[in-house]
Amino acid sequence: MPDDNSSANPRPVMGIGSCLAGNAVRYNAQTKSPNQYVRGISENFEMRAFCPEMGIGMGVPRPPIHLVGSESSVRALDVDTHSNDFTDKLAAYAGKVLELAPELCGYILVKGSPSCGYERVKRFADNGHSVASDQRGIFAAALGRADPLLPLEDDGRLNDPGLRESFVTRAYTYHDWKTLCITGLTPHRLVEFYSRYKYLVMAHHMPTYKILGRLVADAGKQPMDALSARFIAELMAGLTHRATRRSHSNVLFHLSGYLKRTVPSAERQRLRDLIDQYRQGLVPLIVPITMLRHHFANNPNAYIDQQVFMAPYPDELQLRNLV
Ligand code: SF4
Repeated sequence: MPDDNSSANPRPVMGIGSCLAGNAVRYNAQTKSPNQYVRGISENFEMRAFCPEMGIGMGVPRPPIHLVGSESSVRALDVDTHSNDFTDKLAAYAGKVLELAPELCGYILVKGSPSCGYERVKRFADNGHSVASDQRGIFAAALGRADPLLPLEDDGRLNDPGLRESFVTRAYTYHDWKTLCITGLTPHRLVEFYSRYKYLVMAHHMPTYKILGRLVADAGKQPMDALSARFIAELMAGLTHRATRRSHSNVLFHLSGYLKRTVPSAERQRLRDLIDQYRQGLVPLIVPITMLRHHFANNPNAYIDQQVFMAPYPDELQLRNLV
């Protein structure tokens, strides 16, 4: 995939380290093989590849760099001489990426990289000895500071089904939010947005659900800029909490209550049994969700139809098959 900064695609836009996207941009002119989960995500988003080291003019092939210093103050220096410092340029490139692709709704970083690593990047002493693995890459850290709402993960962490599900959920949510902001944020639209996310938030973090409810109750009474900034910060933070089988089951039982008047009790009991099997870890989330969707397809409910919880991302990603 070439580095591509063009726009005009309706799919959500995801950033990715260029080497993971198949470009031979590593210091040794190699690519890095994406795992199956990076490939799966790449098929569902419009991917934009960026290489910070190439972006600041380091060229390829190039001398490798690593992180040197104390835990709270590291610099990206060339491995061989420690006399060339790339820290400030790599950090500044994060701002450039957000300028080039303001529509980004997530970013897949590169495990272990002194520029693009999400966490546990190796740190070295002045004498070149490895002293710890406790850093975030310089570019990755700056990207997180420049847009604290932007969901970040690296290819290694995406092997974890729960982290993967949370990352993709947050990416689609951020895309949805950015689309709303482009449309024009009004108190009424904020209330509608929250209404669609209620059950998803409930599944991830009940305290956030309550905070958002109180915030939205103030829509129209407080300045929209401050209110909406607080709203989206709380929402994105709330969605970083992992939904559990227990919290998902709680939401599923809530939703099944909407079928009370339309579905015979024997069928509702079968649904409740499935939800309970899911809660006990006997079947994956997709099983009771599919049954719920089936019932709501036969008995449409406008409020439930709009709930993001029912389909937070395309089924092709198969994220609910493993959680
Ligand atoms: S890890 Fe980042 S800086 Fe290194 S080659 Fe990949 S995209 Fe470029």
